[in-house]
Amino acid sequence: MATRTVLWAGVVLASTFAQAAIADSCLQVTLTGTQGGPPSFNGLAGAGTLVQYGSEDSNCSDVVMQFDAGRGTTQRLSQSRIPAGKVNAVFVTHLHSDHVEGLPGLMQLRWHFNSAGPKVDLICHADAKSPAGHVMSCSGFAASIGDNFIKSGEMAQRLAENPKRLAGGPADLINVVAVERPATAEVVWESGDVTVSAVASRHVAGHLSYRVDTPAGSVVIGGDAGNDKPAPPRDSSTSAQVEALAQGADILVHSTIHPVMGPDGGTGFPPPIYHRQSTATDLGALAKRAGIGQLMLTHLIPSLGAPRQGPFKLPSGALTEGDYESAVRESGYNGEVVVGTDLAKVRLTAN
Ligand SMILES: [Zn+2]
Repeated sequence: MATRTVLWAGVVLASTFAQAAIADSCLQVTLTGTQGGPPSFNGLAGAGTLVQYGSEDSNCSDVVMQFDAGRGTTQRLSQSRIPAGKVNAVFVTHLHSDHVEGLPGLMQLRWHFNSAGPKVDLICHADAKSPAGHVMSCSGFAASIGDNFIKSGEMAQRLAENPKRLAGGPADLINVVAVERPATAEVVWESGDVTVSAVASRHVAGHLSYRVDTPAGSVVIGGDAGNDKPAPPRDSSTSAQVEALAQGADILVHSTIHPVMGPDGGTGFPPPIYHRQSTATDLGALAKRAGIGQLMLTHLIPSLGAPRQGPFKLPSGALTEGDYESAVRESGYNGEVVVGTDLAKVRLTAN
């Protein structure tokens, strides 16, 4: 038996479930940012999920993985007692700024204090060309990650006061692991008992979804994935690739849009953007079909308590946690649901 503890907003729930387990290991999943998309609201950090695995003695911190790194990631990591130098690998679902704009800050911080290494593995898609012709390039992003600070002269100034820092700036601390677009899940990273697989999924060119398997449990990070069909008619707004990846997983962390943002909701939100996200109700249905024990909604569109999503006003006012949970329950899913707030966390313990 393993014990699952769910902590958020000061609430503690506990339940038990059966699974293969190794004594005294734990898997902890923390939402480092739950802002949905580029807007900024009420201090929420940008999209990101911290996944930690290890022994109870190490507080699950033997392997530290960050999935996406939106605005404010370093602040949320510090609240989770994870210094920049402790992160082993960063995984990127896609190159939208709301998912990666915190990465330069994280890497700059690491360059300041951890230039002696080790490098951070940056797992992301190989250069991907969109149907419109533009190329999404993670290696380009990584290579230029410190360029503003090189061009401003700060890097030279800092090197003058401490020549032990790496001369090329934070880019020298990144080891890019470029993933070609796997149609079915492929292992892309391993560390001890931890295995991370990736599958290509639809959102913008290059989008990847990930699954972490450990002896204490498993978690899928869907990112902003949506159905291959860009709009109705279709069975679901969710991704078939994520559904295959998530079969039997303990936890699914997924970007979520509330049905109120749909074309009938009166917000004026652009339908093509609505249709490329997964709705809360369809995520509940996916979680039910895939046998997920715990659904963590993140990247909420709209944010909890927000009267608008960017310029798009909500005619019936801000949504509550209950509004999101009801949308999930309409699917018939009866597992545990976390309506994401920053630093919400779930810990799976094998004992
Ligand atoms: Zn996004």
